[in-house]
Amino acid sequence: MKFSQMKYERPDAEQLKAELNGLTEKLKAAKSYTEAKELFLAEEKLNKHISTLANLAHIRHTIGTRDAFYDGEMKFWNKVDPELEECQQGWTQAMLESPYRKDFAEEYGNLMFLKAEIKCKTFSPVIIEELQKENELADEYEKLLASAQIPFEGGVYTLSQLTPFKSDPDDARRLAAWKAEGNWYKENQAKLDDLYDQLVHLRDKMGKKLGYEGYTTLGYYRMGRNCYTKEDVEKFRKAVVKYLVPVADSIYREQAKRLGKEYPMSFADNALEFRSGNPKPIGTPDEILAMGRKFYDELSPETSEFFRMMLDNELLDVLSTEGKRSGGYCTSIADYEVPFIFANFNGTQHDVEVVTHEAGHAFAAYMNRHRIPTSYIWPGMEGCEVHSMSMEFLAWPWAEGFFGEDARKFRYSHLSGALTFIPYGTMVDHFQHIVFEKPDMTPRERHDTWKELLGIYRSWMVTFRSTARGKAGSVSIIFTLCRSIILIIAWHRPLHSRSGRCSRKTARMLGNTTWLTLVRAAAASSPSC
Ligand SMILES: [Zn+2]
Repeated sequence: MKFSQMKYERPDAEQLKAELNGLTEKLKAAKSYTEAKELFLAEEKLNKHISTLANLAHIRHTIGTRDAFYDGEMKFWNKVDPELEECQQGWTQAMLESPYRKDFAEEYGNLMFLKAEIKCKTFSPVIIEELQKENELADEYEKLLASAQIPFEGGVYTLSQLTPFKSDPDDARRLAAWKAEGNWYKENQAKLDDLYDQLVHLRDKMGKKLGYEGYTTLGYYRMGRNCYTKEDVEKFRKAVVKYLVPVADSIYREQAKRLGKEYPMSFADNALEFRSGNPKPIGTPDEILAMGRKFYDELSPETSEFFRMMLDNELLDVLSTEGKRSGGYCTSIADYEVPFIFANFNGTQHDVEVVTHEAGHAFAAYMNRHRIPTSYIWPGMEGCEVHSMSMEFLAWPWAEGFFGEDARKFRYSHLSGALTFIPYGTMVDHFQHIVFEKPDMTPRERHDTWKELLGIYRSWMVTFRSTARGKAGSVSIIFTLCRSIILIIAWHRPLHSRSGRCSRKTARMLGNTTWLTLVRAAAASSPSC
C-alpha cells in the first residue's frame, strides 16, 4: 500500500489501555503454554497497531511540522505514550513472571526476556509526568530547528538547504554560509540552552526517581545496551584518543596542505575536503533514487525487491522542503510490515548516503518484517548500525554511477570520514556522560566542557568562542557511540565484502542475538578476521 493511502485515525486511549490490561490479566491466568502463546500473539498484534498509528502521526508531523492536524496528534501521543507504557510494563512483568517463560524462550529465544528485564528498569508510573514533558521538549526542539529561515545571498534557507553552501569551494562564500548559520544559532542560543537545560534536569530527576545515581545508568538501559558497560565505554574512549585521534589528525593535516590552509583549520575550511570541491552526486533527486534502484537491482534479488517496493509505495520522503524536520531517520510501519525513510536531500554526497545508510537500516527491517516478537525487527542500536554502515560500503562499486567523475573523491572522503567520525562520535558520548554526571552545570559551563573535549578529540579544529551549535547537536545524537564502535569493525571489512551475502546473513540472524554475539559470528565468517 502507498504511504499516502495508509489511514490514520486517533485511537481511543482508554480502550487501548483496557485491551492491554485485559490481555495481561488473561496471561496471568493462562492454563497452558498454548493459551499463553495465543495471548502473546494477540498482544503483539495490538502493539503493532498502536505503533503503526503513533508512527504514521510522527512521520507526517516530521514531514510538515506546520501541519496543525498532525501537530495536535503529536500532542496526543506525547501524552498518551507514557500512559500506555504503564500498561505495557504490566504485560512485560507478567511475561517475566510467567510459568511458561521457558517455553517462550525455547520458541523465540531468550533475548526477548533480556530486553524485557532491561525495559523494566527504565520505567515506573512515578515518571509518567516527566516522560510526557520530555516528549514535549523534544518536539519543541525539533520544531525550533525546522523553523529556521536563514537569509543568505538574497534567498532564505532552512538548515538543511543551507548545508551545500557550507562546503562551497569558494572560500568567502563558504565562510559566509557558516556565519549565516552561526547567526541563527546565536539568535536562538537562549532558547536552545534553555531546552537543553530543562531536558538535562528532567532526565536527572527521572533517573533519581527510579533509584539511580542520576541519568547515566537509566540512559544506558533506555538505549538497550545489553552487552557492554560504562567501564567498557571508558576503555574504548581511551583507545580512541590513543590510537585513532592521531590517525584522524594526520588526515586533517593532509587536508590543510591540499587546501593551502593553516593547521588547525577553521570549521569552514574543515568542511572543504578538496580544492576542486567536495564530491557531488550527479543528477536530480529522482536520478539519485533511480541510481539507487540500479544498485539494489544489481546487488541481489532480495535488495532489488526491497528497494522497488520502497519506491512503488512512496516509502522514501527525501526532498528538503520548508517546515520539514531536519536530519534523516528510518522507521517501520508495523501493520503494513514496511520500513519508511525520511531524509533531506541537499545536493551533497550525503544524499547518496541516505540511499545507502538509511536504506541499509530499512533493508534489515524488511528482511525481518515477519519476525516474532516484533521487538526483534529492530535489534539494539549497535546491531542496526552494522547494516547501515555496511550498506554504505557495499555501494562502493557503484560509486561511478552515483558520482561520475567524483567517484574517486567520494571513496576517499567516505573512507576517511568513516575514520574521523569515530573521535567525533566518542566525543559526543563523552560529553553526555559529563553533562549527566554534573546536571547542575550552567549552560556556560557546558559550552566550556564541549570546547575542552574538542581539544582532546578534534584538535585539528580551531576552537573559537563556543556557540550553541555543539550542544544543540548533541541533544539528538544518541547513535554516535554505537556508530563509532561499528565503524571500527566496518573499516577493515569493505575490501572483502563485494557481495551482499554477509549483510543478508547477518540481517536475518540479528533478531535473537545480542550485538556482541553478532559481531563474533560475523568475524568468524569474514576472510579479513
Ligand atoms: Zn544509522
